[in-house]
Amino acid sequence: MSSPALDTLRRVFGHTAFRGPQAEIVEHVAGGGDALVLMPTSGGKSLCYQLPALLRPGCAIVVSPLIALMQDQVDALRQLGVAAACLNSALDADAASEVERQLREGALDLLYVAPERLLTPRFLSLLERSDIALFAIDEAHCVSQWGHDFRPEYRQLTLLHERWPDIPRIALTATADPPTQREIAERLQLEDARHFTSTFDRPNIRYTVVQKDNARRQLLDFLRGHANEAGIVYALSRRKVEETAAFLRENGVNALPYHAGMPAEVRAANQHRFLREDGIVMVATIAFGMGIDKPDVRFVAHIDLPKSIEGYTQETGRAGRDGEPAEAWMTYGLGDVVQLGQMIAQSDSDEARKRVEQRKLDALVGYCESMACRRQVLLANFGETYPPPCGHCDNCLTPPESWDASLAAQKALSCVYRSGQRFGAGHVIDILRGATSERIRQFGHDALSTYGIGTELDVRAWRGVFRQLVAGGWLAVDVDGHGSLRLTPKSAEILKDTQPVMLRREAPRKPGRASAARNTATTGLDPGSLPRFEALRELRTRLAREQSVPPYVIFHDRTLREIATLHPASLGELAEIGGIGSSKLERYGDAVLEVLAET
Ligand code: ADP
Ligand code: ZN
Repeated sequence: MSSPALDTLRRVFGHTAFRGPQAEIVEHVAGGGDALVLMPTSGGKSLCYQLPALLRPGCAIVVSPLIALMQDQVDALRQLGVAAACLNSALDADAASEVERQLREGALDLLYVAPERLLTPRFLSLLERSDIALFAIDEAHCVSQWGHDFRPEYRQLTLLHERWPDIPRIALTATADPPTQREIAERLQLEDARHFTSTFDRPNIRYTVVQKDNARRQLLDFLRGHANEAGIVYALSRRKVEETAAFLRENGVNALPYHAGMPAEVRAANQHRFLREDGIVMVATIAFGMGIDKPDVRFVAHIDLPKSIEGYTQETGRAGRDGEPAEAWMTYGLGDVVQLGQMIAQSDSDEARKRVEQRKLDALVGYCESMACRRQVLLANFGETYPPPCGHCDNCLTPPESWDASLAAQKALSCVYRSGQRFGAGHVIDILRGATSERIRQFGHDALSTYGIGTELDVRAWRGVFRQLVAGGWLAVDVDGHGSLRLTPKSAEILKDTQPVMLRREAPRKPGRASAARNTATTGLDPGSLPRFEALRELRTRLAREQSVPPYVIFHDRTLREIATLHPASLGELAEIGGIGSSKLERYGDAVLEVLAET
C-alpha cells in the first residue's frame, strides 16, 4: 500500500488503519481503475471514494440520491478540513452559482450532486470545463428495477462513462443479492470494473424475532432495555406510525413520528431532532432512513414485517454504524404475512414483478421462522456462508425447541378442508378447540367432525402451528379474500403422512420484564472516567450547537470514551486517539485539554 493513502487516512480522517478491503479499493481507484463496491451499511464505503478524491487531482463528483445524506456528508467532510460542497434543489441560485464557480476554479475536492441535477445539459457542460478526479455513484442499487428504491434517472448514468471514458468510476451499494449485483454491473456498464465484495455480516448487531402477541406491549418491554438511547421503530402504515408514536409518548418514551404523509416541515423538523438530540426514538415508515447515517442508533425495531431480506438488512443496518453493540428486533405474526401478501396481490405491478415480490416475502418469512442462527440465514441470502453459528442472536442464545407436530398439522389441514377453505386461522382454531362462538353456531361448525378435536393445544400454540404451516407452504392464504386459508399441492405430504412435520415450539409468553436499563454510550467506562466523559459530552453539545451540526460530526462516542479513559495531557497525546485528525486537533484540541484539566 502506497504510504500517501495511509498518511492521508491518518492525517485527515484520524483513523489508524484501513478497514476490510478499503486499502485495496482506494489504491485501485486512486490509480485510475473502475470499481463496484458491495459493502454492508457502515462498512466504511464513503472513504473508498473520499480518499481517492484527495489523492487525485481535480474534484470528485459524487452522485447521491438524497439531499439529507449529502448535507451530512458535506458537514462531516468540512469538519475534517476537506473542501466539499453539494448542489441540489435546496440551494438558492446564488449559493448554487458560488459552488459552480468553485468547481470551475478547482477549489473543491468533492462535490455531491443529485442525479437529476447531474444530467442537466447545463451541469454536464460545466463538467466539461472542470477538472474531474473521479465519479462516485452512491446507493448504486437505485439503478436496479428489482431493487427496493429504483430511481429511473440512475439508468442514464452510463452517460458518464460514454463522455468521460478515462475518468475512474466507483459505484457503491449496501444492498446486493446476487441478481441485483449483476443488474448494477450491467446497467452502469461496470462489467469490466473490479468488483470488491466484503462480507455483509454485522457482528455488533444482535438479531431477535419474537412471535407477535400484543405488539405494542412487546415493543414497550423491548424499549425498556434501551432507555435514553436513539433508535428507529418501523411500521407499515402512516396511521400505525402516528398511533405508535403517540402510544410511546404516553408511556414516557421520547418518540417522534415520520412518514411521507406528514407536512414536509414537520417531517424535516423531526428528522433534524433525531439527528441532533440524544435519545430520540423515531417511529417511521420506510420513507425514513435512506441516507440517515447517524452512527449511534442503538436499535432498529420492526413492529410490522419488512418486504424482503434486502429491505430488512438495509433497515436494520442503520443500527450500530459506530461498531458498538446494537439490536435488530422484530415482532412477527401470521397477520403480517396475510397483510403483505394481500398488498402484493392487489398492487398494480405486473405478474412477473408480483412473483418476485412474493418470493422475496417468502424468503423473509423463512428467516423469521428459521430455527438456525439468524446470521447464517441472512448471509445465505447474499450468497455467503457464515461458518459457525454466531452465538449472539436469539436462536443461538436460546435455541428453539422443535416438536413433532404431524398430528396437529393433520388436524389443522382437515379442519380447514372440512369448513370449506373459507375461513381465517382464528375461526379454524375456534373449531379445533371446540369454542362456542356465535359464528360457530351460525355456520353449524359445531357439527363438523373436526369440532373440538384440538383441545390439547392452547390458542397460542395453534396460532404458531398455522403460522408455520403457511410459512412452509402447506397452507395458503387467500389474498384476494379475507385471509381465508386453503390447502396447497404440498398439503398432501401432511395428509398422507409421508413425512413428519417438525415445528418450532412457541416461546413462552414473557412476563413484562423491566430489563436493566443499560446505556451503551457509557458501558465499559470505569467509574473514574465517567465525569470526564460527561464533561466532554457537554463540550461536544456546545460545539455542535455553535456550528449547527450534529454532535457525532464533531466526535463519536467512542472517541469521547477513549479520551476520557486515556486522559491525554498534551496535543501530541490527543492526536494518537482514533477519530482525531489534524483538522479536529487544531479546532478542538485546546478546548478538550481545557475540559480535561478542569475535571
Ligand atoms: P457506509 O457508507 O458504508 O454505511 P460510512 O462510510 O458512513 O459507512 O462509515 C461508517 C463509519 O465507520 C463512519 O463513522 C466512519 O467514520 C467509520 N470508518 C470508516 N472507515 C474507517 C476506518 N478505516 N477506521 C475507523 N473508522 C472508520
Ligand atoms: Zn446466531
